[in-house]
Amino acid sequence: MDLGIKGRTAIVCASSKGLGRGCAEALAEAGVNLVLNARGAEALEATAAAIRAAYGVEVVTVAVDITTDEGRDAVLAAAAALSPTGGADILVNNAGGPPPGMWSDWGRKEWMGAIEGNMLTPILLTTAVLPGMIDRGWGRVVNITSQSVKSPIGVLGLSNGARSGLTGFAAGTARQVAPHGVVMNNLLPGIHATDRALALDGGVVKAEGITMEEAQARRAATIPARRYGTAQEFGATCAFLCSQHAGFMIGQNVMLDGGAFNSTF
Ligand code: NAP
Repeated sequence: MDLGIKGRTAIVCASSKGLGRGCAEALAEAGVNLVLNARGAEALEATAAAIRAAYGVEVVTVAVDITTDEGRDAVLAAAAALSPTGGADILVNNAGGPPPGMWSDWGRKEWMGAIEGNMLTPILLTTAVLPGMIDRGWGRVVNITSQSVKSPIGVLGLSNGARSGLTGFAAGTARQVAPHGVVMNNLLPGIHATDRALALDGGVVKAEGITMEEAQARRAATIPARRYGTAQEFGATCAFLCSQHAGFMIGQNVMLDGGAFNSTF
């Protein structure tokens, strides 16, 4: 399917690895030029080189912490310089997830970290790109959130809370910007085979004294698809949400969890 977005400019945050990289690759395959971001320059440059070689699109890298004001400004400036229209047509919001723990572990400092990373950062980036998208009459914003928004994971209380705040913002704002051709949706990953999932599995290995294989087999057994998702599958769904064909899909929360959340709707 032609996604109808060839030549557009996208910012994909936190995209040297994992789900962000999956989104970047799928957008590049659709002919979208990219601003990629991560803190570590080495992995970021390697990803950018691989994407340029595979898809022949323009890829600009910005090695910054996206949860800082300076980091966001640098990414936005790179998109303004890359785009023929002077700003991003597509924004994929992403950042690292907060650490696991117990509700009793988290004070103001921990909560502010989660809110900065997983709520305010995507809100501020969205706020920065929306005026240009509205002026041009076309835009796409995808927030990578988590299944934890819909189905809470106790040990990820910081994620449950901060990402729910972003989800509330997106729900109302998506409907305010829809008349201007701007489409905003959320993608809710369940368990995907990335470094983040491996780190969480590592915690189970330590806590329960089992092997990594056992920990992953146990987790996969809780998923009707009986496996972890892949970054490629995730990226393909993201690219569809950024495509011309998603124009009537407004403010939705799309679960990609292999059926783990049990519900009729
Ligand atoms: P991952 O494999 O660990 O990759 C994270 C990527 O984000 C890396 O490129 C990392 O590069 C970059 N990054 C992290 N913090 C950053 C920051 N402050 N500024 C800029 N870049 C940053 O993680 P993932 O599995 O793709 O997860 C992506 C998001 O989805 C996370 O918020 C995660 O909590 C959420 N999620 C994942 C799953 C899953 O099963 N994988 C499930 C539910 C939700 P650097 O470290 O070099 O910055």
